[in-house]
Amino acid sequence: MRYVCEHCRNEFEAEKPARFCCNAHRQAAHRRRVEERAVSELAEALTPTAQGADPKPPPSPAPPPVKDEIDEEQAIRDSFGYAASETRTRAERDAVAARIMGRASSEVVLPRFIEFEGELRQITRSADITEGDYIANEVRVTQEQLKVGLIRTHPVVNGKDRLNRTADYARWRYRGFLCGEVASL
Ligand SMILES: [Zn+2]
Repeated sequence: MRYVCEHCRNEFEAEKPARFCCNAHRQAAHRRRVEERAVSELAEALTPTAQGADPKPPPSPAPPPVKDEIDEEQAIRDSFGYAASETRTRAERDAVAARIMGRASSEVVLPRFIEFEGELRQITRSADITEGDYIANEVRVTQEQLKVGLIRTHPVVNGKDRLNRTADYARWRYRGFLCGEVASL
């Protein structure tokens, strides 16, 4: 019989059902599982969670697959009323940087992690707004833009309407910002 190795994905011949083509690949797959478990346990141990809150935050989905829509969102962001909040964010970011520089050098900062695009990523900077507040703000702004007709394209994509996709995109953007993949909020 022919089977597919769970490690290298190559087909191989075996007399009875087998998951791996060779002993080396069985061991490699085992090592990978052990490492993955260690990383996720470490991440869980290092990620602070509020008392009684759901310990697992919802995963960040990929950004909406509609390229034009992302461009449209960015165009609106660039030309309508975002200046005030961006300025404030920059000022607050400077304040955070100043705070960090003023820290006692003996203070040890442990790395923290966040799930981003299905991967565990190290948080490399802080935002001055919580993820929940950021998403709520973006949804509220989109709601207002829909109401006054600024946004004209709002098809349902993959079962999600414009507001749901705005929330997905905001979550993706926020997490991307924390791990350094997205330049600004
Ligand atoms: Zn193999």
